[in-house]
Amino acid sequence: MIIAIKRGVAESELEDFSRFLEGQGVKVHLSRGVSQTVLGLVGDTAAIDGEALSAHHLVEKVIRVQEPYKRANRIFHPDDTRIELKAPDGVLRRVGGGCLGIIAGPCSVETREQIIALARAVKEAGAGFLRGGAFKPRTSPYSFQGLGPAGLDLLLEAKKETGLPVVTELMDIHHLELFEDVDIIQVGARNMQNFSLLKELGRCKKPILLKRGYASTITELLMAAEYVMAGGNSRIILCERGIRSFDPYTRNILDLSAIPALKRQSHLPVIADPSHATGLAWMVPSMAKAAIAAGADGLIIEVHNNPEAALCDGEQSITPDTFASLMGALRGLADIEGKVL
Ligand code: PEP
Ligand code: MN
Repeated sequence: MIIAIKRGVAESELEDFSRFLEGQGVKVHLSRGVSQTVLGLVGDTAAIDGEALSAHHLVEKVIRVQEPYKRANRIFHPDDTRIELKAPDGVLRRVGGGCLGIIAGPCSVETREQIIALARAVKEAGAGFLRGGAFKPRTSPYSFQGLGPAGLDLLLEAKKETGLPVVTELMDIHHLELFEDVDIIQVGARNMQNFSLLKELGRCKKPILLKRGYASTITELLMAAEYVMAGGNSRIILCERGIRSFDPYTRNILDLSAIPALKRQSHLPVIADPSHATGLAWMVPSMAKAAIAAGADGLIIEVHNNPEAALCDGEQSITPDTFASLMGALRGLADIEGKVL
């Protein structure tokens, strides 16, 4: 971090200020130019509040050289992180570090028949994980809100039936105790900056699927991951799920460039959600393939056996048949990319 000092600051004031900064655990290097004095801060500057420093009466400008996230930063962890899970069927499921993790299932759990049939179908096609929402963040309070605890029970029945590990969204930290048998906890786009939720999940031992907010920058997503990691939980999968655009043709716009950007900045696995990114089932297979070609470590895809009758997100849900043929194409892509599917 570099701090440019205002003109005309007295030597004694500068010394006091340097001492104050060193009290925050960094070394301060003073450099006096002809027209500008700058302080270079060396050490762990992640915990130093640049915005607060900018407001200090001696400070002209603060320039961050290193990103404000540390634990999520590839600089401090050059190797890819791989999330591994021993599934109930005995298979080791992996995401990241050369392994593609494919999560598939309905937007929301609707009935026992629906979730069990879909769990079987996506497993048969080669999915590694089953998704299904029990608590749904809906824009309208009048829309289907998910089956709640009963939906979780059905999802866990589908897990037992197929041996697939399950991924489902936690909206409210008070529900955490219901999630004991859930394998991966999803934090949805709307909750990406729910900092109290993120802090609590830092204390939990389960992997977290952290979805990018639809108006959040890459740095904000990594700072959200940093919240969870700072609490002690490093098992995070980042997810690009589309951001808002001016064009209503697609529900969101899949920011493919976020995939290589996140992988460059961070060691955490990055997956893509082509379903919420596009909102259009017919576009899902091509964007799924594009995401893998862009370097994604996996996908989360909405699959429904009767999209027309789905209680949530039917328009973007592909059928089990389409999912099975997409999996065939992904196997070919995985070979090209040298990754394990
Ligand atoms: C979902 O996965 O069903 C969901 C609601 O996702 P997002 O938070 O990305 O909108
Ligand atoms: Mn959905």
